[in-house]
Amino acid sequence: MIPKLNPTVESIPEALSIFVNQLVYDKKSRGERVYTFSLGEAFFDIPRFEIDDETFQRGYHYSSSMGQPKLRERLADMYRRSYGVVADPQTEILVSCGSKPILFMVMQAVLEAGDEVLVHEPGWLSYKEQVKLAGGVHVPIPYYDDIYDWEKYLTDRSKVIVINNPNNPSGQLYSRAELEHLLRVAEEHDLFIVSDEAYSDFLMPGDSFVSMADVDPTREHTIVVNSLSKNMGMSGWRVGYTIAHKDVIAQLLKLNQHLITCAATVLQNYMADHFDEILAATLPQAVETAQKRRKVQDILDEVGIGYLKGVGTFYFLIDVSSYPGETEELVRTLLTDHNIATVPGRAYGESTAGFVRFGIGVESLEDIEKCLRVIKSLI
Ligand code: PMP
Repeated sequence: MIPKLNPTVESIPEALSIFVNQLVYDKKSRGERVYTFSLGEAFFDIPRFEIDDETFQRGYHYSSSMGQPKLRERLADMYRRSYGVVADPQTEILVSCGSKPILFMVMQAVLEAGDEVLVHEPGWLSYKEQVKLAGGVHVPIPYYDDIYDWEKYLTDRSKVIVINNPNNPSGQLYSRAELEHLLRVAEEHDLFIVSDEAYSDFLMPGDSFVSMADVDPTREHTIVVNSLSKNMGMSGWRVGYTIAHKDVIAQLLKLNQHLITCAATVLQNYMADHFDEILAATLPQAVETAQKRRKVQDILDEVGIGYLKGVGTFYFLIDVSSYPGETEELVRTLLTDHNIATVPGRAYGESTAGFVRFGIGVESLEDIEKCLRVIKSLI
């Protein structure tokens, strides 16, 4: 028998979306055709550039724990051009290996034991576990609660409000007025708003994204997290970044030094050298994906399946509450009997237990319609 392990870590469930995707990988490796609506990515055509010998050789070694300076400059430049955010790449941007570890480090840096973190549902499934690991208390806000009513969840232990803008999986996009309201709440109650902007480019041309870092230009109450995973279609490269007040970055830097050292040097250098060309190729594909989402919305309306209101990302949270059994049983039946992979809505909160997440990033519109009809027949 092994010695006792940490009960907090033991109490944490596996990430349900990754668990479902493991079943999908297993089925695929047996040669089965699986209709995959469970994946957290869209597949882009990404231009490929030669890596010269010098870049390759330099890539064998550690590099700055803040992130390669040239990449930070490119990121600052992109946030300025795209979202009007002015951030100093020297002191206000830190790069690490994906936004997931950065969010973990943010929770470690900000929370003291017992501090409360409000998360609007559907809430991306790792927020809750990361808050718990940092000794904090996760306070879910049901999906139906309007942003102007969130103050009723505040106590004297509240420390952070997490928003995911636009939201995975509802697609909800927060307006400038809503974000300004959140900032006023944060100022009044001395809170941080952690704004996860991982899907900021998955919007139709008329829907404009407002970064929390633009609403709060001093960043006294705002920590923005983003990455190359979704917007640039490079989830496997594990490059993410944060834009925050320099005093917050100084704390995150120490955590990054102790946990990660640096994101892969060769990949950071490559991205810094080709950032604009890659962005020019991927940005239109993110917009196309949002347009595809709009078409799927029409199919959902036609088939007669309800969903949470939203405009961005490449997911829907679809309403399966009329299914006679538990949603998890429906998800299992869909996967085992129909080779249709989805994620149970409970992964995103109790208030969304009667929903499933349906990602539209990788399947064709024809297959999406076919599978939605199967789902409709079961619910
Ligand atoms: N935030 C959200 C809302 C996500 O959906 C994901 C990935 N599924 C992440 C953060 C983490 O992304 P990464 O670590 O690849 O940057």
